[in-house]
Amino acid sequence: MNDFIKKELDELASAGLTRTLREFIPDGSALRGTINGRRVVNFSSNSYLGLDSHPGLKKAAAAALEKWPIGASASRLITGSGPWVSELEEKTAAWKKREAALYFGSGYGANVGIIAALADRDTDLFLDKLDHASIVDGAVLSRAKLNRYRHNDTAELERLLKRSTAARKLVVTDTIFSMDGDSAPLEDIVGLCKKYDALLIVDEAHASGVFGKTGAGMMEEIGLAGRAFLDMGTFSKALGVSGGYVAGDRATIEYLINRARSFIFTTATPPMVCAACAAAIEVVMTGEGTHLRERLQEHIATLRAVIPAAATQIVPLILGDIPATRAKYEALLEKGLLALPVRPPTVPTGTSRLRISLSAGHTDEEITALVATLSTIN
Ligand SMILES: *Cc1c(COP(=O)(O)O)cnc(C)c1O
Repeated sequence: MNDFIKKELDELASAGLTRTLREFIPDGSALRGTINGRRVVNFSSNSYLGLDSHPGLKKAAAAALEKWPIGASASRLITGSGPWVSELEEKTAAWKKREAALYFGSGYGANVGIIAALADRDTDLFLDKLDHASIVDGAVLSRAKLNRYRHNDTAELERLLKRSTAARKLVVTDTIFSMDGDSAPLEDIVGLCKKYDALLIVDEAHASGVFGKTGAGMMEEIGLAGRAFLDMGTFSKALGVSGGYVAGDRATIEYLINRARSFIFTTATPPMVCAACAAAIEVVMTGEGTHLRERLQEHIATLRAVIPAAATQIVPLILGDIPATRAKYEALLEKGLLALPVRPPTVPTGTSRLRISLSAGHTDEEITALVATLSTIN
């Protein structure tokens, strides 16, 4: 009966593509810890500001844990919608300078829920080929007609938009791409959406907290805040906690409360998590956030000595095949530096890489050690 499982696993193994879980034991923060008995500095986390271990966030979570139940015990639409989450949503809307916001248990769930709710069989969807898997999964679930344009190729996007006769057109793009660390040509995309009357959803998962004067993301950074139909993002990366958000006009948020199945049919997130997210917004919006963003930019500049193309805190070191990538990974690990390999199917065949991610929480010495090691191993 389940021969297919063994067969598939054997196929993965012979292609060298088996994924296995490795235990990582954080040493206070995600940025340092022990893996396979070895102490490492972690260049594979998404804690871009080091907020995962911020005392203010921990304090907010502890206070909420003291005051409220551990679990929310019901979905939002039943009795799971406490003051901890309405406060978080108000804060999110204010931060993103939008009328309203909605919190989801994860960024993955946010994308799946939003896209499946907004696109139907008669919708044409336009996705960048490197858009995050959660966007693709939402698209598949929506049953809309899927158009995928070459990465950041706005000429192809325009051709596809021009050809579309659908009454509803929806463009979804990451603002910073997860595996390449480059940013989308947002100004052009905003212009095309206006020209062809398409709705635009931007996924700021890797830009939230990291870019923009108040850390609201790439749209804020380049002066386009509020110009997308919806802003989506996550609290699980730079903000150091967990959960996704979407922000936009009040009617659309009300629509999503009624139509986004990943919002409706799941138990609400624990109050302590929401409290920590709200504290994280406070940090990224204020002077401390500005300081952390400056530190992160300094680290990126330092890394440019060995990887000149480094544009954001996500820096791919593309090595091509799996063995070469593995060798580099092991050479770094030998020096106590962890940058995990990323390979197909996460990235296209022939572009296996180490994905190095920098954090404001890394020390100058740690960045210097990374640079020194990268320039000596070959
Ligand atoms: C990580 C990520 C998500 C999912 O967010 P989670 O909160 O981790 O579920 C969505 N979109 C992009 C672009 C991401 O990188």
